[in-house]
Amino acid sequence: MSDLRELYQEVIFDHYRQPRNRGVLPHANHSAEGYNPLCGDRVTLYLIIEDGVVKDARFEGSGCAIATASASMMTEALKGRTEAQVRALFERFHEGVTTPPDVPLSVDPALGKLETLLGVREFPARIKCATLAWHTLLAALQDERGTVSTE
Ligand code: ZN
Repeated sequence: MSDLRELYQEVIFDHYRQPRNRGVLPHANHSAEGYNPLCGDRVTLYLIIEDGVVKDARFEGSGCAIATASASMMTEALKGRTEAQVRALFERFHEGVTTPPDVPLSVDPALGKLETLLGVREFPARIKCATLAWHTLLAALQDERGTVSTE
């Protein structure tokens, strides 16, 4: 991949133009905020986790196309997964985007459309845009509010 335009594949633009799961989740029992100073991307992630399973996920924030599309696709991918599955997905995604461009990539089918974001490995400056939502996700999993947030 040598052309930056190839990075912005149609699926990424689609999620940037029409982000899925955008907005506040009033009854979230896990949340976290993330900031990528390299690009200025900001994301706040809201999760409802019941019995160890992600029941719902939403995000707010403002970011570039990559950061927004990554948060949008990630929230779609989380629903219905256990915390262990979510962490495994993070590992696969993170490994994918941080694999050097000259190293062949074996893409795990479990990533689904998230695979389209792995093209950022060609552009090191953008990797943090793609991983911001995911690092925020790990922070949110650690955040145990236990009760409904009124924020
Ligand atoms: Zn960005």
